[in-house]
Amino acid sequence: MALIVQKYGGTSVGSPERIKNVARRVARWQGQGHQVVVVVSAMSGETNRLIALAKEVQANPEPRELDVMVSTGEQVTIALLTMALVDLGLKARSYTGGQVRILTDSAYTKARIVKIDEDKLRADLSDGYIIVVAGFQGEDEGGNITTLGRGGSDTTGVALAAALKADECQIYTDVDGVYTTDPRIVPEARRLNTITFEEMLEMASLGSKVLQIRSVEFAGKYRVKLRVLSSFEEEGAGTLITFEEDDKMEQATISGIAFNRDEAKITILGVPDRPGIAYQILGPVGDANIDVDMIVQNVGHDGLTDFSFTVHRNDYQKVLGILKPVAAHIKAREVQGGDKIAKVSIVGVGMRSHAGIASTAFRTLAEEGINIQMISTSEIKISVVIDEKYMELAVRVLHKAFGLDQPQ
Ligand code: ADP
Ligand code: ASP
Ligand code: MG
Repeated sequence: MALIVQKYGGTSVGSPERIKNVARRVARWQGQGHQVVVVVSAMSGETNRLIALAKEVQANPEPRELDVMVSTGEQVTIALLTMALVDLGLKARSYTGGQVRILTDSAYTKARIVKIDEDKLRADLSDGYIIVVAGFQGEDEGGNITTLGRGGSDTTGVALAAALKADECQIYTDVDGVYTTDPRIVPEARRLNTITFEEMLEMASLGSKVLQIRSVEFAGKYRVKLRVLSSFEEEGAGTLITFEEDDKMEQATISGIAFNRDEAKITILGVPDRPGIAYQILGPVGDANIDVDMIVQNVGHDGLTDFSFTVHRNDYQKVLGILKPVAAHIKAREVQGGDKIAKVSIVGVGMRSHAGIASTAFRTLAEEGINIQMISTSEIKISVVIDEKYMELAVRVLHKAFGLDQPQ
């Protein structure tokens, strides 16, 4: 007998029929003698609908109230799934995040899980109940409802698996695993049987929304056995997230390509080239709680240099506002920017032992006439910032150039 945590995403619970399908799948696992905890998202489109509704009333919705509101999406699906399970003659019980007591910090709309009280769940499991928990939500010390950021049900699933020391956490979604890139953009993308934890972490942080990054962080920290698989197919092993030391097989050089349109670029031209300048520019940005991603400072000429960095697109206008006075103060010439950029990244642990990956990537983009505006690298990834209009083309040609469409 195993303890399994299963998470079903929005599309997988998108209609009453699909909810009944999920109930049948859960029933099969329980019928094989396993204990099952199920985490569900809101029905597809529901979270977006609720956010849009809030914005009709308040352009910049009050974060505490927004969380009170969007958390209702998941509350609906836990009840519906539990009804479907009861209808199959099973013992099942639903819990909101707060009822479990998934304790989070108080950062509304992007709260972090601090602690989970799993006693009640364990007691229910030993009484033969299937437990259905609302994803994406928790409660802070003061009993306020919080949510975990878009895609946060993945994190609820993995965090519960960690707290319960589950044998496996299964993320059921509308694709049958993690692919070499988003199959919606590149139909030739291939499903990976395994991907290392580090690669998955990079893919998620660089824009692959198949798993929320915090869920991957949890899996790494608590060594949760994590698998991504399809809720629409009966068979299939999906993709297992592995830890490198378990991976005896030879690694492909590149495992996948991630992309992200959520960034904007800001350049300050004609900055006096002296110590402390980076701090003077980025200090106020950090003080405003805005994360900076890539940073490039050019070689100076005649005592002046250019300084560029990227931020989330939502923060673009705010950063421009912050930097206009800063630029005047440090006597820089001009602040420029653009939010029509995209970041494309190649990810693979095999890069550690292979040279020439970067040159292949740059040549491939050059052959298509795609200009690279910024580059950043780590041991296992290369990211480039390009004009947004070439993003899909860049992903497709890189996918082909690294043979990701070929069977391994
Ligand atoms: P859910 O609602 O089940 O949480 P998501 O929409 O959050 O589902 O995530 C699944 C989607 O992630 C897929 O439909 C796919 O378009 C997208 N995706 C992006 N990158 C990848 C990738 N590398 N492999 C698989 N799916 C990916
Ligand atoms: N319903 C939430 C969202 O749409 C959480 C999730 O689906 O994981 O972001
Ligand atoms: Mg998701």
